[in-house]
Order: sequence, then C-alpha cells, then structure tokens
Amino acid sequence: MTMRLTNEIALITGSARGIGREIAETYAREGALVIISDIKIEDCQATVAELVAKGYKADAFACNVTNSADVDQCVAKIIEKYGRIDILVNNAGITRDGLFLRMKEEEWDAVISVNLKGTFNACKAVSRPMLKAHKGKIINIGSVIGVMGNAGQANYAASKAGVIALAKSLAREFASRNITVNAVAPGYIKTAMTDKLTDEVKNKILENVPLGRMGLPSDVANVCLFLASKEADYVTGQTILVDGGMVMY
Ligand code: NDP
Repeated sequence: MTMRLTNEIALITGSARGIGREIAETYAREGALVIISDIKIEDCQATVAELVAKGYKADAFACNVTNSADVDQCVAKIIEKYGRIDILVNNAGITRDGLFLRMKEEEWDAVISVNLKGTFNACKAVSRPMLKAHKGKIINIGSVIGVMGNAGQANYAASKAGVIALAKSLAREFASRNITVNAVAPGYIKTAMTDKLTDEVKNKILENVPLGRMGLPSDVANVCLFLASKEADYVTGQTILVDGGMVMY
C-alpha cells in the first residue's frame, strides 16, 4: 500500500509525549518527516531517538507555544532546514481545573495562554510560508469539552471552543490558497492527562460514552491522519469529535 504522507513535513506541537507523540508516530509511519516540538529540547530529542530507531524520519525543535518570538524562531529554523511546513498540528495543551468561583486568574491565563494563544502563535508563524506555497493542512486539537462545556473546566472549555472557532475562521481566510484548517475534538483519551482522574470519576464519565470505553491516543491520531492526507482535500472548517459518541449533533 502506498503511504499517505510521503515526504510531507509535519510540525506537531507538544509532541514529546501523549496524543501529540502518537500523532507524530502515525504521520511518520505514513512517510512524513515529523518535527517533534515541546518545551524541553531533551524531551523532544528522546522522542526523536525512539522514532528514528524505528526507521522513521523525525527531528527535534523545542519551543514554548506561549511565546510568539520562540515559536517564530522555531518555525524559521524548520523552514531554513527543510524549506517548508506542509502540516501543522496544534496539540500542546494543559488543564488547570477548578470550580469557577474558586478559579484563580492565573489558572485562567495559563490555560488560555497555552491552548488558545499557543495555537494562534503557531498558526501565525506557519501562515505566511503556507500561503506562499499554496499548500497546507492545519489541525487544531480541541476537546469535546469545548463543545459541551464542563463544570470545573471553564478555562479549558473556553480555550478549546476558541481553537475550534479559530479553525473555522482560518478555514475561510485560507481556503483560496489551498490550505485547509480543521479541528479534532477528543473525548476522554487514556493519557497522563486523564490518568490523574479517580476510578469513580472515570466510571461516571464512561456512563456517558455510548462506545463504553475511553479512547486511545491512536483513535485521535487516525483522524488527524485523515485530515492531513489528500483524502481530506475537500474538508475544511470542520470539527470531528473522537469521543465514543459522547456528543452527537
Ligand atoms: P499531555 O499532557 O500528555 O501532553 C501535552 C504535551 O504538551 C506535553 O508534552 C507538554 O509538555 C506539552 N506542552 C505543555 N505546555 C506547552 C507549551 N507551552 N509549549 C509547548 N508544549 C507544551 O496531554 P495529552 O496528550 O493528553 O493532550 C494533548 C492534547 O489533546 C491537548 O491539547 C489536550 O487538551 C487535548 N485533549 C486531551 C484529552 C485527553 O483525554 N487526554 C481529551 C481532549 C483533548 P510537558 O510535558 O513538558 O508539560
């Protein structure tokens, strides 16, 4: 079978571990050269070493998505080395949960600054080279929480609704240049982020998941693969929920 991303250059933010790492490995398996980007360069390099050991093409470029100068510099270095970025996955994300009455301004700012501003910064940095190339696929990792809201996650829900709306707006602005922009909204996926939840909370969540199980990082990565591939050339401004059926609309 031919590979679906042969010779594509894909930048995935927050990809040293978790869902981002899985997306990177899935893209690499399909022939892409994947740029592993995360805050700490050692973490990026460790993931790159694992991927290269499997025979994949990967390179490490650290950046903190909250810092626009850092993101610009990172993208400039990638373009200098590889000439272009074909695919951007905005995956870096954090949670700082708490009921609204007790939510501190710092908790609000931290989540908005990584999840929403970070996505803005990376979109901004790749947009000029992508627009010039008349080619690009941007995928924002949202969350089912950004669609349905959640008690205790006002900051996170707002940030994820934001990246979904950002995808729709950029989809409209960039469509004439052959750039698609979509969002993927995972439900409850088994990663370090959700390992923190108690069994009681997990069981409560599963009561609302028709497919009756938590998702796997590969469930999310496979949809991100579709959206990055030629098969999705006519799909833009969409949000695909990968949530076992939690939200149906
Ligand atoms: P993880 O915490 O496992 O991974 C997130 C990665 O992002 C980490 O490597 C982290 O680095 C990195 N990161 C955090 N802040 C920054 C920053 N400022 N700049 C660059 N990188 C940063 O999370 P998941 O893999 O679970 O989540 C990935 C995405 O999927 C997130 O956007 C999340 O909101 C979303 N999502 C996850 C769900 C789930 O159930 N797990 C459900 C719905 C959405 P470090 O380790 O150094 O902090």
